Amino acid sequence: MAEKIVRNAEKKEAAPAKKAAEPVKKAAETVQKTAKKPQQTIVTPNKPTGGSTVGLRIGAVVLWVLALVCEVFAIMAAMQYFIPPFGMSPLVFLIIMIVLDLAFAIVAAQLWKKANHIKPMSEKRGKFLFYVWNELGVIMACICFIPLIILLLKNDKLDKKTKTIAAIVAAVALLITGVASADFHPITAEQKEEAEAQITTDVYWTQFGHKYHLNADEESGCPYIKNANTLYKGSVTEAIESGRTAICSYCAAHYAEAMGLELENLNVEEKEAVAPQVNIVTGQATAAPSATGGN
Ligand SMILES: [Zn+2]
Repeated sequence: MAEKIVRNAEKKEAAPAKKAAEPVKKAAETVQKTAKKPQQTIVTPNKPTGGSTVGLRIGAVVLWVLALVCEVFAIMAAMQYFIPPFGMSPLVFLIIMIVLDLAFAIVAAQLWKKANHIKPMSEKRGKFLFYVWNELGVIMACICFIPLIILLLKNDKLDKKTKTIAAIVAAVALLITGVASADFHPITAEQKEEAEAQITTDVYWTQFGHKYHLNADEESGCPYIKNANTLYKGSVTEAIESGRTAICSYCAAHYAEAMGLELENLNVEEKEAVAPQVNIVTGQATAAPSATGGN
């Protein structure tokens, strides 16, 4: 079961990034000096789904169909096949349909991504299929908006103002939906199986980070999560299912060997998404005598 750990909340703001040099050592010393235990609140977040993805995938498909229905209504209104109900102007009707289209498509893609993290596709199916399967949300976003945008631009039945505004709204909706639907960190079935086989201890992740970490020790733990107010703790399966598909590169370099992990088989990414300098500087900023230490 995954846990949410809330660490000492009243932390100071990060100092300017120029002080980023040599902070970890100092921070660690401060911990020993002050030795003040941070407050930790532990709550239970979402439980794992038990491995079934059928409901998620059906839900995604139904929502994508609803999104397409909205697009068809918008196209029909733009072609003036019918007059919008309730005395609405064509522009208002078009915008309502575009917003509904966006909402259905985004929620559908989140369900789809979640299903892909619970039951990832095998890399044996080939790169092309893997890409299509994992980025289906982006493909569907294109299908849900591009025909409408083309039609609005080519349309000569609507007045120019309605046409232009609706096309711009639809283009913005396409962008938002595409970015929200993309899976920037897909995982293969093999990578997930390997992580589950190798990592049997709890792992940690932060609210916005996209990787999981091995060591959350107050002093010797990973600096990328030391300053996180809220930490989530759970099995590596739970980490992957909540979208943390790769192991943190710092943890891989510093703790994996001692834990007996075979790194070449694990999904290790080079770059770290969270801003580590800011976090580390926070450790130094709190190095004042009254501070709570570098955690
Ligand atoms: Zn880490």
